[in-house]
Amino acid sequence: MNRRETLKDKKRIVVKIGSSSITHAKTGLLNLTKLERLIRELVNLRNQGRDVILVSSGAIAVGKKTVGIAADDNHIAVKQACAAIGQAKLMMTYQKLFAEYDQTIAQILMTKNTLLNNLNRFNAHNTFTELLKLGVIPIVNENDTISTYEIQFGDNDTLSAIVAALVEADLLILLSDIDGLYTDDPRSNSKAKFIEVVEKIDEELLKMGKETTGSSVGTGGMSTKLSAAKIATMAGIDMVIANGKDISVIHKIIEGRNYGTLFCANKEEYFYLADYIENKL
Ligand code: GLU
Repeated sequence: MNRRETLKDKKRIVVKIGSSSITHAKTGLLNLTKLERLIRELVNLRNQGRDVILVSSGAIAVGKKTVGIAADDNHIAVKQACAAIGQAKLMMTYQKLFAEYDQTIAQILMTKNTLLNNLNRFNAHNTFTELLKLGVIPIVNENDTISTYEIQFGDNDTLSAIVAALVEADLLILLSDIDGLYTDDPRSNSKAKFIEVVEKIDEELLKMGKETTGSSVGTGGMSTKLSAAKIATMAGIDMVIANGKDISVIHKIIEGRNYGTLFCANKEEYFYLADYIENKL
């Protein structure tokens, strides 16, 4: 069977959307048309009987905009304050949009410590499981307000792969501002080739992971996406990186069509999430 066809049967899907995909590049304000489309796609996945988790960035970007802080101000206290402001605003917007479809949502803010501590990780797993059983869509972000640089994930690409592993998802979709993985940066090398399917992530492939994102908001470049792919595939989860420019790419991927780069699950027998976070991240 075509590898893409198997995506039709996915039951538990994590979708990650980056700050640059939900804000207007020119103004930094929320792109409501896109958010509306995203919500419709996600509720429709629920209506098909699938479990859905959304990992959304945007807290810091939205917070900065709200109080008029420059997008490139990276002082940690400023960022943490802006995250506190922006996260509430972001959730208010999600709440309003999801309510149109009568879809209940929940907010889960994670830190690295939550995942390293056995009891916390166990509890987080149970909370996700319970929410999904209730038909709720959990919306996840890093708890930027209390994560400091020693203990933070920093980018939601990595966080979304960890969440996917924690909830035993079977598909992770990373929506970004690039179409997927190329053999080189397509903006500087016109000969760069698009890679549709990655069967195995090896050293050569990791080398292709340059910082290829062109956006000034958000933090994840291609290298963080590849390290997310490594975590997801080792945990036995398929992952697709696709361009969030067109939100309908979500259902196209689930229909088994050729969009984005598919990283095939390669479950490692001895993959243990907490050890990986402690030693590799
Ligand atoms: N957690 C950050 C936020 O919500 C974003 C991290 C990222 O850009 O991946 O603003």
